[in-house]
Amino acid sequence: MITRFAPSPTGKLHPGHAYSALAAWQFARQHHARFLLRIEDIDTQRCRPEFSELIETDLRWLGLDWERPVLRQSEHLHEYQRVAHQLQERGLLYPCFCSRRDIQTELEASGHTPQQNRPAVYPGTCRGLSKSEQQDRIAAGEEYSLRLNLEQALRQLPSQLSWNDRIHGEQLIQPQLLGDVILVRRDIGCSYHLCVTVDDARQQITHIVRGQDLFESTHVHRILQALLAFPVPEYLHHPLITDERGERLAKRLGSESLQSIRERGISAAEFLHGAGFTFPDF
Ligand code: GLU
Repeated sequence: MITRFAPSPTGKLHPGHAYSALAAWQFARQHHARFLLRIEDIDTQRCRPEFSELIETDLRWLGLDWERPVLRQSEHLHEYQRVAHQLQERGLLYPCFCSRRDIQTELEASGHTPQQNRPAVYPGTCRGLSKSEQQDRIAAGEEYSLRLNLEQALRQLPSQLSWNDRIHGEQLIQPQLLGDVILVRRDIGCSYHLCVTVDDARQQITHIVRGQDLFESTHVHRILQALLAFPVPEYLHHPLITDERGERLAKRLGSESLQSIRERGISAAEFLHGAGFTFPDF
């Protein structure tokens, strides 16, 4: 058994990350599984090397250990692009020239009501462009991302795909949840969904312990696993920890970083005692 913690170094870790890392690590300890750390730093705009270093310092402070070398996604961009190319050759991706604003306008025109905390599903504006139109726009230098053509993908897959979640049980995929997601971003040539799926397979991760906020993404990952003939790991989407007011702890809410807790002279044992984390039944 192999599990992993896969943070993105876009900021400092906060107690919610500590919970997630500890959940994966404890799972590994309990099952005598290998535990890996993967740095998901494909987003060159938002990720910073100093945050990667801080992640390792924070995790060591928490008492975690992990195998070396640590996989850093930024060192493997060509590999993700190669996989994207294969999908494109199979007719599973299409170029999308829409800006965020274009998508917004299109959605409003179709009477779409935005749902809280949920990214809008792409309305498919560029799906029907003809080959020549695509080529003309690319030749004219228009920027584009590549989206998964879900309809096409489902045609190549068995009808009943599922995965197992240790907390939530057997899940049948709901392909339409996230729709035609972007697999190749215009700025970095890959995307979270693509890279995480490729790396979980490459690192032979058998158990993915991560937050409930990524539950819907797993539907996409399961489709990619099937398209790429990758093994299917087992999942455990843990509940997200909340603060005293029941609000989700996230770095953008400005909850105190682990670094700042550490620098106040609080020991990891004191922090863990105070946090009172409880973990799901593994
Ligand atoms: N890198 C992702 C994040 O920081 C998590 C990836 C995963 O666990 O699948 O949110």
